[in-house]
Amino acid sequence: MQFKDVVGQKELKAKLVSTVADGRVSHAQLFEGSMGYGGLPMALAYAQFISCKNRGDDSCGKCSSCVKYNKLAHPDLHFVFPVNTTKKIRDKPVSNNFLPQWREILLEKKYFTEQDWYEFIGIENKQGIISAHEADKILSNLSFKPFEAENKIMIVWLPERLNPTSANRLLKLIEEPPEHTVFILVTETPGRILPTIYSRTQRIKLHPLKEEDIVNSLKESGFAEKDIFTASRLSEGNYIQAMQALQVSESAKANLDNFMQFMRLAYQNDILGLLDWADSMASIGREKQKSFLVFAERLTRENFILNRNIADIVYLGFEELEWARKFSVFINENNVFELYSQLNMCILHISQNGNAKIIFADLAMKVKELIRRNKF
Ligand SMILES: [Zn+2]
Repeated sequence: MQFKDVVGQKELKAKLVSTVADGRVSHAQLFEGSMGYGGLPMALAYAQFISCKNRGDDSCGKCSSCVKYNKLAHPDLHFVFPVNTTKKIRDKPVSNNFLPQWREILLEKKYFTEQDWYEFIGIENKQGIISAHEADKILSNLSFKPFEAENKIMIVWLPERLNPTSANRLLKLIEEPPEHTVFILVTETPGRILPTIYSRTQRIKLHPLKEEDIVNSLKESGFAEKDIFTASRLSEGNYIQAMQALQVSESAKANLDNFMQFMRLAYQNDILGLLDWADSMASIGREKQKSFLVFAERLTRENFILNRNIADIVYLGFEELEWARKFSVFINENNVFELYSQLNMCILHISQNGNAKIIFADLAMKVKELIRRNKF
């Protein structure tokens, strides 16, 4: 990861570059701020820069050190992050057990939340921790001299997850650091770090991102420009929130497209078209099916009186809103309750792993009758 891969934070990048140029790299630093401000990618870009053999304003990306950093596989780069037991790792889990997944998520997503990480490694129902076994591992990792670089760099992601034993061992290491070792701690909740660790680190604060920096970084993302502007505006300087908002807008659009198609076919009494529609709904997967049904239920329930406060409606375009308004005349007190209960039943059957093709075909035929019952 190079500085250029980290969104915004121009001043902080310059400050970090100058610490290396001036030979003032502190041996224990704490990057603090919301994950969406980029603490972890920044820590990594900084580590790569420290280790680079041909630096300018950024690491070169090409030297032997950078090549290894690009794959997160430099022998003098170490990671510690919260983990827990899984079906595969049943006993004394440590970061090294999860290194392949860690590299994958970090290289692919760069920005992710603690919960994203737990879901990625399949421990979403448990709290991740950094255990005492991990602390032993840290100690043995750091007991050798650096292999290739001048310094060993240890990035500790979420030191608030250190248990008391491991926190005390890490504290000892920070107090009496092995030679040529740099610790970079990355935290979201500095208030939950052992105060003695907190007071012995140099604190680097990450601030919310500028709206224009988020917009620029999302230009190549393939989302529509107006959606990128809206998402960046609503993100409060948090890149992860901007991404989440874009994904919500995308699924809201897909749901509305599906719903519009469904209603047109029902209104036109197009039975073959409805069966095709049911087939295509059957192929999108259960989560998307449920998301669609909940969306359809809500639009039905509200009788298309669209509530502008609902977050995912904010993203609907003018034409889509207009369509929804016009269509509302077809839903009234004669059919709204039955429509709602048909959709509700459909959600139940999908949740019980019923045959989606049959469920959606059945829904299509019933909704067709209900919509046309009130044709005028
Ligand atoms: Zn380099």
